[in-house]
Amino acid sequence: MNSIAKPSLFRGIGIGETAVYGKIRFIGEKKPAPERKSRGAAAEKREFDAALTQARAETSALYRKTLAAAGKEAASIFEIHEMLLCDPDFIDLVHSGISKGLSAPDAVREAGESLAGIFEGLEDEYLSARAADMRDISSRVCSIITGGEDEREGDGSPEIIVCRDLTPGDTVKLDTERVAGFVTFAGSVNSHTAILARAMDIPALIRAEEFGPELDGAPAILDAQAASLSVNPTPEEMLKLAESLQRREAERSRLRTLAALPAVTKSGRRIALYANIGSTAEAEAAYRAGAEGIGLFRSEFLFIGRDDLPGEEEQFEAYRDVASLFADRAGPVVIRTLDIGADKSLPALRLDAEENPALGMRGIRLCLSRPELFRTQIRAILRASAYGKTAIMLPMITCSDEIARTKRIISEEKNRLRFEEVAFDESIGLGIMIETPAAAIMAHELARECDFFSVGTNDLFQYTLAADRQNHRLAYLEEGGVEPVMRLIKLASEGIHSAGEDKWLGICGEMAADVKLTETLLAAGADELSVSPPYLSRIKDRVRGID
Ligand code: PEP
Ligand code: MG
Repeated sequence: MNSIAKPSLFRGIGIGETAVYGKIRFIGEKKPAPERKSRGAAAEKREFDAALTQARAETSALYRKTLAAAGKEAASIFEIHEMLLCDPDFIDLVHSGISKGLSAPDAVREAGESLAGIFEGLEDEYLSARAADMRDISSRVCSIITGGEDEREGDGSPEIIVCRDLTPGDTVKLDTERVAGFVTFAGSVNSHTAILARAMDIPALIRAEEFGPELDGAPAILDAQAASLSVNPTPEEMLKLAESLQRREAERSRLRTLAALPAVTKSGRRIALYANIGSTAEAEAAYRAGAEGIGLFRSEFLFIGRDDLPGEEEQFEAYRDVASLFADRAGPVVIRTLDIGADKSLPALRLDAEENPALGMRGIRLCLSRPELFRTQIRAILRASAYGKTAIMLPMITCSDEIARTKRIISEEKNRLRFEEVAFDESIGLGIMIETPAAAIMAHELARECDFFSVGTNDLFQYTLAADRQNHRLAYLEEGGVEPVMRLIKLASEGIHSAGEDKWLGICGEMAADVKLTETLLAAGADELSVSPPYLSRIKDRVRGID
């Protein structure tokens, strides 16, 4: 138990929006496993191989569980774990440790640490984040061999988990009944752990100021919005939290009643509120949360994390399932065509290496250079359009020629389907993403070529500020960057709305999910907002509060 009852405040980066109370549970210093001598190389290797098989089976079960609960993006973590569990370097290192006389658990720990150290030393943030995954899988294999770690019994109070870095595997296994939130001293906003925390709606504080295990068991308030952890909170803070919890509970039940209501401002302006998804599982969550349509189906998530490419039939089935599910909703299912390139790689395409991939062959540029890949997807979307209102959206557009070339392809594929007597929606809409300053500036002209627009603020931000969206060292540009991006949105909106009354503008980047920006986005002319399913009711509530 903690011996210090002094109130203290620790700051970090907040993930999520809520404040929670709980007792600190320090899981940073794991108890060392009992010493174990080698029982001979052959026996230790057998034990390791059996544990490896079990770990792979468990990981594949975790993959399926996460896929069903949180979609493909979140589940991809366990695909990485499966890959690491099959990594010949890892297996060879363990075998060689065992041959040198180590017990299987010691050899696994040593190999895991040594490979994690190599990952940590890599410049690339994505690859260096794999160190946590390496430690996760080696500790899983170890605990299988040693019979698992002791699980400390809680006293029933909510807990705030504190540790150096929570692995994605630990995160998905968190018992959300008991764990109110978590704090890590490491981590980054783009890590898989942060993505999972958002999808699971667990508030977190990452890169927190460090403190030691002497605070284990101390009461604390984790406030994700204020980006702070208050340990041994004062009676005033507790009172404030109790009031805010009461308000939050009342608000949650009010938000639940909003699911069936329209997103309309007090002055009567109707906003289309749609969802961002990457899988059919997420489509179901969006439907339950009352989304009126799908504003962004990131189709590349059907392609990423596999060795082959999904064919027309497989794509058609996924698009059809979402289109049929939303057939009774007012809005369309907007399927964005493949957005590969930059940070989203697809080894099966064997792309040429580029010096500046974010400025290279990504999104529509890549699709137009691979007509067969593009035509397959277009056909699958056209066929799905027979099952519910569907629209096609093109990523990374910079000029009208890209839209004109795509329209020729769509028209040819339509002709082919007509000839084959395959049903599709003749009036299927075509939209483009505004992700480049060029598209925002030229929106009026581009509006002659398409029906609607959606601003990808994540990319529009990085291309406007010339700041890689994955690079956490550029986070200081975030606040000041909002204004230039807003001005571009306003410029685009004026261009689009003056081009025709039926043209509409949506926002589907992360800015759409920020309640602080809702009013400004609507004032800039947004007709539609598209956010990930857990954010739908909060945004609807905000819209309904705007005069
Ligand atoms: C965006 O760029 O804002 C967007 C929605 O697309 P993605 O995040 O998939 O690049
Ligand atoms: Mg984008």
